[in-house]
Amino acid sequence: MSIFKDNYEKILASLGKDIALVAVSKTKTVSDIQALYDLGHRDFGENYVQELVEKQERLPHDIRWHFIGHLQSNKVKYIAPFVHLIHGVDSLKLLKEIDKQAAKNQRKISCLLQVHIATEETKFGLSEVELKEFIEQINQEKSIGALQFVKVSGLMGMASFTDEKEKVREEFRHLKSMFDNAKINLVDNSFSCLSMGMSADYQIAIEEGTNMVRIGSLIFGER
Ligand SMILES: *Cc1c(COP(=O)(O)O)cnc(C)c1O
Repeated sequence: MSIFKDNYEKILASLGKDIALVAVSKTKTVSDIQALYDLGHRDFGENYVQELVEKQERLPHDIRWHFIGHLQSNKVKYIAPFVHLIHGVDSLKLLKEIDKQAAKNQRKISCLLQVHIATEETKFGLSEVELKEFIEQINQEKSIGALQFVKVSGLMGMASFTDEKEKVREEFRHLKSMFDNAKINLVDNSFSCLSMGMSADYQIAIEEGTNMVRIGSLIFGER
């Protein structure tokens, strides 16, 4: 078995019962995932649609699959029948497509809005201003009866890739404050999930109030 059981158990202990662990299994094999499943784990995160679909077919169907990568609108249909939580929603266009595909599958799909908190350049994630506008748009859509098949359940963010702990802490703190604000302003009572923290920085994320961490390499080894 090529998973790090000791690390896994240590992580679980430090999270306690109020912080969820998404085991990030991208690029890892079905048997690695099965090994963690056999220890009782049920939440797994994947970044690529095709890889996720293939693994979902081959693994037990009570796994809760988290899509944590960048999702293109034209691929939503492949994961809509089974996905548990989509972490990276950053446009109304994508949210509307998820709503449409959820309706087709007669289910509700939970989504997190992705916020860009790192200083690194990336195309993905909303700025603070964009997040505010997005939340107003979602409220408006919901008020006219649209977006009935998506639950906007929280926020997701990634801190800068750096050894400067204080910088990471500031970024997480900022995300937590946006989360607290959004919780007040969004008319969706399922809003409760803050997905922040990875292998290198989850301990800081815990200190800054995360309630869901996404951890890959500490559990499955380097990719
Ligand atoms: C790969 C990935 C992770 C896990 O990263 P590790 O450093 O291996 O823990 C978490 N979140 C996202 C969005 C990822 O792409």
